[in-house]
Amino acid sequence: MATVLVVDDEPQIRTSLRGILSEEGLRVIEATNGREALDVIRRESPEVVLLDIWMPDVDGMELLEVLQGAMPPPQVIMISGHGNIETAVRATKLGAFDFIEKPFSLDALLDVVNRALEQHTRSSLGPAAATGDANEGLPDITATALPQAGAGHRWSERTIAHSVVVSGHGLHTGIKTGLILQPAPPGSGIQFATISSEVTVPAHLDWVDSTGYATALHRQGATVRTVEHLLATLHAYRITNLLVKMQGEIPILDGSASEFCALLDSAGVAEQNGTVKEIVVDQAIEIGKKDGESIRIEPADGFSISYLLRYPHPVGEQQYRYIHRGAESFRNEIAPARTFGFVRDVKQMSSMGLASGGRLDNLILIDDEKVVNTTLRFPDEMARHKILDIMGDSYLLGRPIRGKISASMTGHSDNIALMRAIRAHLVD
Ligand SMILES: [Zn+2]
Repeated sequence: MATVLVVDDEPQIRTSLRGILSEEGLRVIEATNGREALDVIRRESPEVVLLDIWMPDVDGMELLEVLQGAMPPPQVIMISGHGNIETAVRATKLGAFDFIEKPFSLDALLDVVNRALEQHTRSSLGPAAATGDANEGLPDITATALPQAGAGHRWSERTIAHSVVVSGHGLHTGIKTGLILQPAPPGSGIQFATISSEVTVPAHLDWVDSTGYATALHRQGATVRTVEHLLATLHAYRITNLLVKMQGEIPILDGSASEFCALLDSAGVAEQNGTVKEIVVDQAIEIGKKDGESIRIEPADGFSISYLLRYPHPVGEQQYRYIHRGAESFRNEIAPARTFGFVRDVKQMSSMGLASGGRLDNLILIDDEKVVNTTLRFPDEMARHKILDIMGDSYLLGRPIRGKISASMTGHSDNIALMRAIRAHLVD
């Protein structure tokens, strides 16, 4: 019988957790403070510890650090009354398995405890078992036989081998925020969740809410802003199942997807049972076609995106064609390209409550004469960034796609319109 230790100074919390968890067939032991918890852990070696973050004597965070030295360490779930993503990211960095907010729902509590128990079983079987059949490091997409034209290729499902975290700021809200990526079982898809996991928002066209300067999703009161750069990276790495914990907005980081690549490289990719069928485009579909604005997709053997942009001096004309060959080509050619903006638009954006996180280090800022705040990483960095955005928006179809996309002077709304049109034409 698995043992769960509840560490909380509030008797009602301990009593209610004991009731719920005992009913699930778990052995529940209690401690009222950090010191007592350490004694109990040494004596009883519980598999899972539910740990209150705020306690009078030893702070939950301090105890969490100490516990990482235990052998084998228990899986620690932090409990907080007023959690935020920053605290959750800090706790995860210190080794917490997950984080749950008071008041918690029964479902959320049981879900997190069960996942922690599974993780404990895997970790105690040794490091090889801890990651399952994971391929640590880079996903080997190029080694996979390229699909034949015609029938849709079936790719195996993928998640990440272990959880990873990153801290940053939201571009539009400007608030300090963070991100926790956690493995998810086959068939779950990409899901965004707040730290308390009450509402999840699937990364899917059905939940697209707004597409002004960035793509936002919304479901049952929960909003997830600026999903495109992370989704582009998941698309490139062909991650099909993932739990993304955040608070309102995905951090903008340096305005590109390079840090998301580094994050996935450090997490490692885990192949899973089950397959996803790629979407094969079998006819040309075009959106826009006014004032040089257009986006179209046509049948092709692989997945490629070309983008043409034309702005007055100092940007001029830029064109880039990207042929997706796997994570590596994305990481080298597309991921480093940063968000860009014009000084004249920043005023309008801030009056709309956007771009308040657009500090000088997370976008390329252009005035009438020049790029004012940075050196370009590629001469055609803006065109490449537009490809990054399309790569992200197209993953809202929920499956990898095969076809050739050509776009000119379009933005998120056109991308989404094209994806909706593709979906409307889908046979399977
Ligand atoms: Zn972008």
